[in-house]
Amino acid sequence: MRLSSRLFAAVLAAGLQACVTQPVAAPKAVTAAPVEVRAPVTILISIDGFRPDYRSRGVTPHLDALAARGISAAMRPSFPSKTFPNHWTLVTGVRPDRNGIVSNAMEDPGLPGVKFTMAESQDPFWWNAAEPIWVTAEQAGIRSATLFWPGSEVAWGGTKPKDKKPVGGTRVEDWWPYHIEISAQQRVAGAIDWLRRPAATRPKFLTLYFDTVDTAGHTYGPDAPETTAAVAAVDATIGDLVAGLRALGQPANLVIVADHGMATTSAQRTIAIDKIADPTDYRIFESGPFASFYPVAGHEAALEKALLGRHAHFECWRKADIPARLHYGTNPRIPPYFCLAEAGWLLAKTTPTDAGGLGNHGYDNAAPEMAALFIASGPAIKPLGTLPPFDNVDVAPLLRDLLRLPAGTTLDGDDMPFRAALAK
Ligand code: AMP
Ligand code: ZN
Ligand code: ZN
Repeated sequence: MRLSSRLFAAVLAAGLQACVTQPVAAPKAVTAAPVEVRAPVTILISIDGFRPDYRSRGVTPHLDALAARGISAAMRPSFPSKTFPNHWTLVTGVRPDRNGIVSNAMEDPGLPGVKFTMAESQDPFWWNAAEPIWVTAEQAGIRSATLFWPGSEVAWGGTKPKDKKPVGGTRVEDWWPYHIEISAQQRVAGAIDWLRRPAATRPKFLTLYFDTVDTAGHTYGPDAPETTAAVAAVDATIGDLVAGLRALGQPANLVIVADHGMATTSAQRTIAIDKIADPTDYRIFESGPFASFYPVAGHEAALEKALLGRHAHFECWRKADIPARLHYGTNPRIPPYFCLAEAGWLLAKTTPTDAGGLGNHGYDNAAPEMAALFIASGPAIKPLGTLPPFDNVDVAPLLRDLLRLPAGTTLDGDDMPFRAALAK
């Protein structure tokens, strides 16, 4: 205390003397702390079940502003138009038949007695057929972070001995285990916090995932006001992200996608499979917009007679005969018999006893109701407006361009749809 007051007195005296003995100098400009010039990061954002026409409801100012400054399209998902297969396609550039995630639920003849479900999906065995972009990025020294994405919790390329932790494999540097109750605001705040880090530990590629538009679409149907409210809320979240990035001075190339769209369904448009084929001839594996079956041994002929061919509102094939345009049917994880309903119709094991949900997806990927949102905007993307529809296998090549990774050689897609928008 004494020391500091003496010091203060001395400084004051010196200052006063300066005032007395010297002409007053112009005040020095205050030098602000140097502002870091940040290089753009790439952020891949999935809004589950967001149909591109939801943007015409007048509740998406933030998405519309990004589209106006960049490019947008009604993107074709891959078949089947389900969540896990399409999220894996978006980050691998490989269709479900080859990327291994052929549905949200799977069995594999190589792993008898084990079922893959969305909740039980951490064994790299299921994911190893195609490399996700964050592994390619990490291996090229591009630090990555996922705030949810199907497959992002997996030690990719590793193995998982039964009841033990995975061995080997590559993960992103930063990831959170999926939890539906972590709010959209918390997800955005988490991503912004990662970007607040010093440059050396800051991610350069990030993913974000939002589930609420899909949930509302299933429960209330795509045309319901509740679904429009979910669309408005997610748009506000995108606005929060853009504002957070601006406040940090962090430029970003945003690639905003959906995995699939949503069709209106109804208990009245449901076909009970047990009325079509004798349940003693098959084990039904999945049902809904499509259904898949294992035959009971020795009952193949009876099952084929009842099931195969075109029926009112659905069609069934042996897996090898699924139409080529669906690019589906060679993977051993696809059950031997497969039926696909017309968009808006459902295949159920038995006659439904309750009303069920009012929306669903999983239909033909060319059905207009299955189209998926695509918007890309940022310093690397020219404002070329609406692009013609393209397949979602082209998104991973776009991300590779944005991250300056070499073009993949074994992908099903390429960056053709974006070349004009990316040109220097
Ligand atoms: P779908 O049944 O095809 O409509 O899948 C949508 C559901 O997938 C959403 O309700 C999400 O909660 C769930 N989901 C999305 N990402 C993940 C994940 N990484 N792990 C587990 N479930 C997920
Ligand atoms: Zn989905
Ligand atoms: Zn869904």
